[in-house]
Amino acid sequence: MNLNTIVQVKRPTSFDEIEWRDGHAFLGGGTWLFSEPQVTTDTLVDLQQFGWPPLTVTPAGLEIAATAKIVDLHKFKPPADWGAAPLFQQCIDAFLMSFKIWNAATVGGNLVMSLPAGAMVSLTAGLEGVCTLWPQNGQPRQVPVVDFVTGMHTNVLQKGELLRSILLPMSALKKRAAMRQVSLTKFGRSAALIIATVGDDGQDFLLTVSAATPRPVHLRFAKTPSATELHRAIDRRLPPDAWFNDVHGSAPYKRHITLYLAEQIRAELS
Ligand SMILES: Cc1cc2nc3c(=O)[nH]c(=O)nc-3n(C[C@H](O)[C@H](O)[C@H](O)COP(=O)(O)OP(=O)(O)OC[C@H]3O[C@@H](n4cnc5c(N)ncnc54)[C@H](O)[C@@H]3O)c2cc1C
Repeated sequence: MNLNTIVQVKRPTSFDEIEWRDGHAFLGGGTWLFSEPQVTTDTLVDLQQFGWPPLTVTPAGLEIAATAKIVDLHKFKPPADWGAAPLFQQCIDAFLMSFKIWNAATVGGNLVMSLPAGAMVSLTAGLEGVCTLWPQNGQPRQVPVVDFVTGMHTNVLQKGELLRSILLPMSALKKRAAMRQVSLTKFGRSAALIIATVGDDGQDFLLTVSAATPRPVHLRFAKTPSATELHRAIDRRLPPDAWFNDVHGSAPYKRHITLYLAEQIRAELS
């Protein structure tokens, strides 16, 4: 849609060029920004001119620029020894989108939207991603993805703070992984997206619950838990009011389906 409150689009080539004030909004792919009126925004700050390489493999892991598009991640060919690599495609497929969104939406934009059904939130939280944030005045800071999203459509970003990148650590990428996702309708938003990762020796089992809860939740175990241990841990960590109740599924349904899917992936990885 046309945003008739916008009077200027800035295209900075470096972060220092931005003189942030109320009314500014960072422009990622624009798939959400252009999908509804933005009455408090008069200036878009386009991030594409920064020219950040979308995906960079280093010994530390995979650095995903906030401006990397979903389609960049889709085309990426991960090294053969990244056991968790199938999660990339599985989470991309969980994204409810048309071809326009696929080609335009950025990974950073999806994280900043901080929606429970944000498939890139699920992916990067499940792979223990760490965000690098650039505040307007201050040093860059690092925040794990699981702490970046604080609730439905809320996160830790301060005014004018930019999400620069997300690092997926090599230790997480090399683990084995399993994922399950359900929606109430065929093309509906995720009601639950559950990821588990585990080391080859059955150590460091990490369950990530997302979509069923307003923000992603980690449950970590020194070794793969039994079915009963996992069930009890989920119930302890997520009391009845911790589940996300919306048109894509009631809270009791989301608890039920999470317990069911978590046990499936626990058994698969055992
Ligand atoms: C038909 C349709 C279906 C959709 N389906 C889903 C879905 O299944 N799941 C889902 O989560 N979302 C969905 N969305 C919402 C949205 O399109 C996605 O979340 C998308 O990933 C947003 O990415 P973007 O790059 O287009 O963000 P933009 O629209 O450019 O920006 C989104 C927000 O993030 C801010 N922003 C962008 N990049 C940065 C940055 N690097 N640092 C700081 N702030 C930044 C913007 O200022 C804006 O507030 C859907 C939208 C539509 C229209």
